[in-house]
Amino acid sequence: MSHPDVIVVGGGIGGLGVAFSLSRQGQSVRLLERAPAFGEVGAGIQLAPNCTRILDDYGLLAEAKSLGVVPDAMVMRDAVDGDELTRLDLRDLEKRYGYPYMVIHRSDLHGLLLRACERAGVELVTEAQVTSYESTGDGARVTLASGETHEAGVVIAADGLHSVARKLLVDDEPVSSAYVAYRGTVPAEVPRVRSVDLSEVVVYVGPACHFVHYGLRGGELLNQVAVFESPKALAGQENWGTPDELDAAFAKTCDFVRDGLPFMWRDKWWRMFDRNPVMNWVHGRIALLGDSAHPPLQYIAQGAIMAIEDGWVLGEHVARNRAADGTVDWGTALAAYEAVRPEHCRRVLSTSRKWGELWHLDGVPREQRNALLRTRDTYDYSFVDWLYGPTALTPDEEPAMFTPIPLSSAHAEAPLKVAEA
Ligand code: FAD
Repeated sequence: MSHPDVIVVGGGIGGLGVAFSLSRQGQSVRLLERAPAFGEVGAGIQLAPNCTRILDDYGLLAEAKSLGVVPDAMVMRDAVDGDELTRLDLRDLEKRYGYPYMVIHRSDLHGLLLRACERAGVELVTEAQVTSYESTGDGARVTLASGETHEAGVVIAADGLHSVARKLLVDDEPVSSAYVAYRGTVPAEVPRVRSVDLSEVVVYVGPACHFVHYGLRGGELLNQVAVFESPKALAGQENWGTPDELDAAFAKTCDFVRDGLPFMWRDKWWRMFDRNPVMNWVHGRIALLGDSAHPPLQYIAQGAIMAIEDGWVLGEHVARNRAADGTVDWGTALAAYEAVRPEHCRRVLSTSRKWGELWHLDGVPREQRNALLRTRDTYDYSFVDWLYGPTALTPDEEPAMFTPIPLSSAHAEAPLKVAEA
């Protein structure tokens, strides 16, 4: 088998994104996925302007919009009394950033990227589980569980939260948040959906829990996500996040939230892990990308977006470091990638943790948070400019972060941001 220019390990949203990005820069790409078929588990995903800008550059935004929903508003409510706390006008937000905020079914986004890779000639290989990585003189080699080996000038490891490649760079483990997510979709004909404005993305924030809903597939489905802190996880029990805990966690929330719980899928739940940020993603000609490099808690809805941004940034640096004969100076391209992406993703990971703390407050801090959020001007974007603006290609282009607003001395570090789910 001849060697491709690039091997990508992992066919999730991150792996497909970088495979497409590099193939459009003239690279031959082989993507190795351990599963027997390509696919995505879960329901909806939110795509902010920093992602739709890239989909537009890829020529994929029109198709994404035809498959998803472009909502009018994002609203944050208190989960206990149901009252509105703050909102984003997504039509105005689109004018500010030049690209829409949209929501889409995960399998539709994944399918869109998969088809783009097929059209671009990416070699897509399933049942290929990578068990080890090693650098060669001018490239890298991976070995599969079958014993087969594959070599290329560069290997991009987009192998998710439990990345094998990450062990080359850091000896760490996923960090449990003790929170668990339930997901579910409700068909439009079910009465529940009639009580919902499908043009809004809504998050209800409550003590140690939150609940998100938005429409999918042009309003054919209502997507719901229920997230809570598991007492069993806090007690160190193995079997945590079970459906009995779901019902108990939301017992004190408003009727609308509780009425949504019977529609959650009860046979599968997602325990929520992230990892501490790391600033070193490149080992010789092997580079981490997506959740393998920066798995976040999902509170600011940027995990898949960061993965797509990683792929786009790497593609741009390949374009800048490609000679007339097509040869890429991978050392320089990877160094430029590593100079800019880890710091941005570190900010997202830390902010996601803080944002989760802010959402899940109880007692007086909850009241303080609510009072502050109610005073926020709908059209104040100072807290999202650093996220939703153009993706930086160099550290100098990385925008300054928002200024934290203290809630109380106990939460002096907690940042105040506008509603995201
Ligand atoms: P993965 O999706 O984990 O893909 C890794 C792939 O690699 C898989 O296909 C796997 O089979 C394959 N693989 C693994 N190991 C090997 C191996 N050894 N050999 C070969 N293949 C291998 N993000 C957003 O941007 N917006 C949101 O609204 C959002 N909401 C979320 C809600 C929840 C409840 C959760 C849990 C996450 C959410 N995220 C969101 C985060 C987002 O889903 C992830 O960050 C993103 O999907 C990561 O993509 P990835 O391709 O890096 O990793």
